Formats: sequence, structure tokens, C-alpha cells
Amino acid sequence: MNAKKINIIHNNTSKSLDIALLLKEKLEEHGFSVSNNYSNDAFLNICIGGDGAFLRAVHSTEFSKIPFIGINTGTLGFFQEISPEDLNSFVEKLKNDDYNIEQFFLVEGTICTRTSCLELIALNEIVIKGYQSKTIHLNVSIENNYLEKFSGDGIIVSTPIGSTAYNFSCGGSLVYPTLDVLQLTPLAPIHSKAYRSLTSSIIVPNSLLIQITPEYRDENSILIVVDGQEYKYENIVEISFKISSMKVNIMTLGNHNFWTNVKDKFL
Ligand code: NAP
Ligand code: MN
Repeated sequence: MNAKKINIIHNNTSKSLDIALLLKEKLEEHGFSVSNNYSNDAFLNICIGGDGAFLRAVHSTEFSKIPFIGINTGTLGFFQEISPEDLNSFVEKLKNDDYNIEQFFLVEGTICTRTSCLELIALNEIVIKGYQSKTIHLNVSIENNYLEKFSGDGIIVSTPIGSTAYNFSCGGSLVYPTLDVLQLTPLAPIHSKAYRSLTSSIIVPNSLLIQITPEYRDENSILIVVDGQEYKYENIVEISFKISSMKVNIMTLGNHNFWTNVKDKFL
């Protein structure tokens, strides 16, 4: 790790490009060196954009251990700690080592066909959805305890930090980010005499594995959406979810906390 080197990762809006240039100048004035490509000996990843850009930066760096901090040039910017007007005070805080590094949970999904398994990791959530807008049927077990056959549009498995994203729009609860739990939130659960699914989300502790086995009708494809990125899979036999042993490090400046963020961004 190089105590003075910083990676700047930005999306390509003109505002983000402007901020990236301005910030580079200010950081270099204060003795930092700036890399526009991801360099693994930097001490900080600065991500310029909205939440989507933040998520993409975390994925494109393969869940880098180097802390991330975001500058919001997007629309919501729930992850983004800094607004573009506050570059000077940010650089000042960096110079004075006046910041905290917090760790956040990631969700890990293991997707198995009859012959092999692969792992997916997300910061916000992993969603299982029906292919071509078909109803999806999913058997849900928690640590080998069969719970329900879900029928509906799909299920969101969200992290605490992702609880304010898609999960929240679908009626899930906001979860304080230090709680090591995952939340399963149904998408348009069918609740009829034909199909009976839980209509509210459930919160599962870290120690328990969430196991989902799809029940195929006429189509054996399903969609898996990882932090907004959609993939189509065939013949999946089981998908299991747990909190990953990896974490993401996020730098905070003490200007916001979870509750002020919820109030500022949603109310
Ligand atoms: P997007 O369609 O721009 O994201 C939808 C909104 O979610 C944006 O306003 C985004 O903020 C915000 N967002 C993302 N992560 C958040 C978080 N942890 N807390 C609060 N708000 C958050 O797509 P995107 O920018 O690529 O982001 C992907 C995420 O979008 C997915 O992980 C999923 O959570 C979310 N999503 C939400 C819905 C829904 O609410 N109906 C549907 C699909 C996807 P910015 O404006 O700053 O980007
Ligand atoms: Mn976005």
C-alpha cells in the first residue's frame, strides 16, 4: 500500500469527468498521486458517479480491499459520502487522516447445476427472477428447514446496505448496516388457493444458509440479477445464499450516519 496513491474511478457523464479532473488537480497539489486506472497499491478508491457507478466500481475491482469513497454526481447517491461542492474539505480531511473506515457485508450466492457450481457476490442484492416474465416457482429452505414454495415474480436477497435499494421499493425493511443478516423479499408473491407464498420479507441471521431450488414448468432458464446486472442461467438445481467472508471497506467522514442518510434521501 502506498499511503499517498489514490485511484479515481468515474462514470462518463460530463459532470463526473469535470469533477475527476478538478479533484486530481487538488489531490496532486496536496502531494497525493492519482491513478486513473485501478492500481492495487493505492490506499483509496474514489468513485465519481451515482450509486450505480459505485456498485460497478466495487465489481470491476473484484471487491478490492482498498477502501472506497464516493462523490455523488448521480441522482440519488446513497453510497456517495461526498457532494461535489465539498472537494476542498474532503482533501483536507484526507491530508489530516481525519476519516473512518467501515466494513460492510456482501451477499454470496452459490449457483449449482447438476455438474458444477459458481459463486456470485453482491453489495446490494442478488435477485432470482423468472425468465421472460413468467411466474417462477422456488422452494425455499433455511438451513435445511423447508419453509415455502414461493410463486411469483422472484425473490430479492439483500444485504443490510442494499436494504435501502430494490428491497425497499418492494416493501422490505430498512436494516441497520452493522447487523449481519440477509433479507429475503418477495416480488409480487402469489397468495391464492392455487399458490401460497409469504407476502412479507423475512430476515435471516448470518449463521443460517438460505437454500432455493427452482421448480421448472415449461422453461428451465432463470434470471439472476447481481447488483443490477442480469444473467440468464439454464438448469440450475440449487442456489444458496450466505453472507460472504469478504467485506467491502468504505471510508466515511463522519458527516452522515445511516439515519440521517435515510432521512435525507427518502423523506
Ligand atoms: P438504477 O436503476 O439507476 O438504480 C435505481 C435507484 O436505486 C437509483 O436511484 C440508485 O441511485 C438507487 N440505489 C442503488 N443502490 C442503492 C442503495 N444501496 N440504497 C439506496 N438507493 C440505491 O440502477 P443502478 O444505478 O445500476 O443501481 C443498481 C441497483 O438498482 C440495484 O442493485 C438495485 O438495488 C436497484 N434497483 C432498484 C429497483 C427498484 O427500486 N424498483 C429496480 C431495479 C434495480 P443512483 O441514482 O445514485 O444511481
Ligand atoms: Mn443509477
